[in-house]
Amino acid sequence: MKKKFMSLRSIIAVPNGKTKICKTCGNTATQEALFNVGGDITVIERYCITCVTNVTARS
Ligand SMILES: [Zn+2]
Repeated sequence: MKKKFMSLRSIIAVPNGKTKICKTCGNTATQEALFNVGGDITVIERYCITCVTNVTARS
């Protein structure tokens, strides 16, 4: 399945919310990358600020 990078957004801290973890390195994630995988299907992957630059540069 081909993923097409769509957009990036900051993760807003939610009081009492669970900490989101970067998919690549396991640090605290602060960014969400949205990908379209065909049709109307969008997937969200979470990354820290360091890893997300690699993700967006690749797409
Ligand atoms: Zn990371």
